[in-house]
Amino acid sequence: MLLREVEYAKPSSVAEALTMLEANDGARALAGGQTLINVMKARAASPDVLVDLNGLDELKGIELGADGTLSIGPMTTYAELIDSAEARARPILADVCSQIADVQVRNRGTIGGNLCSSDPTNHLPPLMAAVGAELTITGPRGERTVPAADFFLGVYMTAVEQGELLTRISVPAGKRDGFAAVTLGVEGTCIVNAAASASGALRVALGCVDAVPVLIEADSPDEVREGVRAARLRPPNDVHASSEYRAHLAEVLAERAARQAVGA
Ligand SMILES: Cc1cc2nc3c(=O)[nH]c(=O)nc-3n(C[C@H](O)[C@H](O)[C@H](O)COP(=O)(O)OP(=O)(O)OC[C@H]3O[C@@H](n4cnc5c(N)ncnc54)[C@H](O)[C@@H]3O)c2cc1C
Repeated sequence: MLLREVEYAKPSSVAEALTMLEANDGARALAGGQTLINVMKARAASPDVLVDLNGLDELKGIELGADGTLSIGPMTTYAELIDSAEARARPILADVCSQIADVQVRNRGTIGGNLCSSDPTNHLPPLMAAVGAELTITGPRGERTVPAADFFLGVYMTAVEQGELLTRISVPAGKRDGFAAVTLGVEGTCIVNAAASASGALRVALGCVDAVPVLIEADSPDEVREGVRAARLRPPNDVHASSEYRAHLAEVLAERAARQAVGA
């Protein structure tokens, strides 16, 4: 049998989804399923109930506010964001989404699922940390907003608690951004990635070097490498790259992303 037996529920509103998630500790939200179904197949997770968020229009769509802030529904797919006229207000978002895996994954995978997976090799956690996104979490006690820098708590762990949902992603206005990655082949998983924003103070967020994105602040791209060294990274060592090689890439990619952000 491919999957252990699991119940399936398709709520018709966010309120109904929250009631289902709160009623059962073993219930999990299902977005694009690109991560969740694979970890279920590998028996690394075995939820009792899948609460399918597909079809909840409240969790979809991209709106551009008068001040340039983008409000993105977590069930927006990468493909929808890439095609969105509104999302062009912050071009790095579509640039990075178009680098994620292949067309099948981009058609099914969602922005919210990417963030809630908190997979250290994913593209979007460092990007959201660098651009200063704010994430709205809704649960039985109401809504709260968490800066992206505080959202990721560990591998597969985020500020979203059992019985809660990520319901909105808010990205402030800005165009001075950069992103650089070394991947396992074309369209492959990142070995190290770096996202930078110079809309305001220069911020670089590194992915794949720790359980959560590592934020570096610097006055200029010339100082970014020193900032990375000062963070005393101890990246993972695996079949794809040694810890030393990842630490070296972190410096190179952080500087590359920072130079792209400032247009140098
Ligand atoms: C072959 C392949 C290659 C890939 N390569 C990359 C890559 O290079 N870069 C990259 O970034 N990603 C990559 N991915 C991962 C992909 O982007 C996934 O789509 C993404 O990580 C999860 O999004 P999803 O919509 O499929 O979420 P799901 O798999 O449905 O859910 C993931 C987790 O998030 C939770 N969740 C989802 N939405 C919410 C919500 N609104 N509120 C609370 N919890 C929620 C679920 O309960 C689950 O725990 C790859 C996936 C595959 C299959």
